[in-house]
Amino acid sequence: MKAMVLNKLCDLSSCSEPLELTDIPDPLPADDEVLIRVSVCAVCHTELDEIEGRTPPPRFPVVPGHQVVGTVERAGRDVTRLKIGDRVGVAWVYSACGKCRYCRDGNENLCGEFRATGRDADGGYAEYMTVREGFAFPMPDVFTDSEAAPLLCAGAIGYRSMRLTGLKDGERLGLTGFGASAHLVLKMVRHRYPSSEVFVFARSEKERAFARELGAAWAGDTCEEPPEFLRAVIDTTPAWKPIVEALKWLEPGGRLVINAIRKEEADKEYLLNLDYPAHLWCEKEIKSVANVARRDVAEFLELAAEIPIKPDVQEFRLEDANRALLEVKGGRIRGAKVLRI
Ligand SMILES: [Zn+2]
Ligand SMILES: [Zn+2]
Repeated sequence: MKAMVLNKLCDLSSCSEPLELTDIPDPLPADDEVLIRVSVCAVCHTELDEIEGRTPPPRFPVVPGHQVVGTVERAGRDVTRLKIGDRVGVAWVYSACGKCRYCRDGNENLCGEFRATGRDADGGYAEYMTVREGFAFPMPDVFTDSEAAPLLCAGAIGYRSMRLTGLKDGERLGLTGFGASAHLVLKMVRHRYPSSEVFVFARSEKERAFARELGAAWAGDTCEEPPEFLRAVIDTTPAWKPIVEALKWLEPGGRLVINAIRKEEADKEYLLNLDYPAHLWCEKEIKSVANVARRDVAEFLELAAEIPIKPDVQEFRLEDANRALLEVKGGRIRGAKVLRI
């Protein structure tokens, strides 16, 4: 089969072709796995982190891609729930041990044996992939393949961060940063918690205008003072300043949820502005979001179909994956990028 393969880490500021179009053997499904004929795979910012080594694959070569939609082409003999021809999606969560206390509680994202699609196992930048039946999600009919794929990552992780805030209807939520995941969160909150106001902190006026357009009660710059205190804040920025600033506006007992796989070093000194009485006193909490569990993907897909949330997409051929990745790197991300296999 044809696949776009990552053979080694590389620096995208000097290397423009990190992935190589390669002919590799078709994967064979194990007894508890299905073989998926990939229809589309969306491109994620995390692929840049894999390629540049911020979250490196443990072995090479590897086929990236963790927002996969396709149809079941073959099924191992222990597969009972899925049938040939079913349309399914695969997200970042590829597998986990299934036995530890995290797995038993439905938090397999925290399992010591958590494996990520397209990093620890071959993903969807290819004609076929295999995955355990329990880690393939039936896709709601309201979405086309291209519309569904980008939801599998930003949407599912946005859903988990919303869930971890513990928000109740009527409580105010803040969002620092307003990229793909945050704008999905705003749509979800407006639907699930219709009486909750959402306050958005973003550096660019364009993002702030977009937030207001989508129904934010208020949108201001990172250091601006919001008109009200907030029950919870979700941070999706790569920096430290926005979280220090956000802590200031939490109500007593409020919670900051950091949804970022890594933070950059550039403004780390800003943490020295942390003032205990202003930023942490009164039982304020800080929590990070790590990966996603299957429950997040399944519940998010249901909610997204109900709202419905349909992303704007731009399609590329599989062969043009490098160009799509460089456009993501360049920040040209209005509309999700999807590889049509
Ligand atoms: Zn992703
Ligand atoms: Zn486990």
